[in-house]
Amino acid sequence: MKKLEQLYEGKAKKIFKTDEEDRYWVEYKDDATAFNGEKKGTILDKGIVNNKMSAILFKLLEAHGIPTHFESLINDREQYVKAVKILPLEVIVRNVAAGSLAKRLGLEEGVVMKETVLEFCYKDDALGDPMINEYHIYAMEFATPEQVEKIKKMSLIVNEVLVKFFLEHGLKLIDFKLEFGVYKGEVILADEISPDTCRLWDAVTNEKMDKDRFRRDLGGVEETYQAVLSRIQG
Ligand code: UDP
Repeated sequence: MKKLEQLYEGKAKKIFKTDEEDRYWVEYKDDATAFNGEKKGTILDKGIVNNKMSAILFKLLEAHGIPTHFESLINDREQYVKAVKILPLEVIVRNVAAGSLAKRLGLEEGVVMKETVLEFCYKDDALGDPMINEYHIYAMEFATPEQVEKIKKMSLIVNEVLVKFFLEHGLKLIDFKLEFGVYKGEVILADEISPDTCRLWDAVTNEKMDKDRFRRDLGGVEETYQAVLSRIQG
């Protein structure tokens, strides 16, 4: 496959067209942002970690019946994916209170939720990805009720599979963000799953092993990203 013109450059990835109409070429960058772009930096080799980790997790999820956009790795930083049309939604899945949920509900970080919590945000940087509910989704035609039903079902299965997988590698999956796209009329899982989009805590010490190290200036950012990849490869 040939890499053709760049379609889009996001905060963490560049997307290129290819000579195959239904495939994109994704390049993972080392750029890091937080707090809606207010904080900017670089995490050395983050692009490599996130590219490889997403590949591992998408393959795992495919094996559990979740359709994903992942096709194959090209090299350390790049992968082929199906050319999806991304729905303008971020789906947040939460097992343990942290981040904005802890703030919003006045909970201590680390409180285990009695039920898995699903939240939707409207994917719009200028608006700061506001939280929305299903009424907004249908009124704004961000997705159909059938698509939302599938998204909810898939998100809960993804959570079950990933919680178990990470725990087997010494990590607690606190919360994460998913994005979905439409490919040949079907909703499939897209974007990435990485320490940029998940909160992962060491299963024994509760040490933060994700982008919160960058967000909160906790140090050892690069080392932590590498450690997460080593653990899930091991
Ligand atoms: N998240 C993400 N992209 C976003 C917002 C959140 O990947 O634009 C992830 C974040 O890394 C965390 C989870 O979604 O794993 C929940 O994030 P939260 O709503 O607590 O927001 P934050 O505190 O990260 O701003």
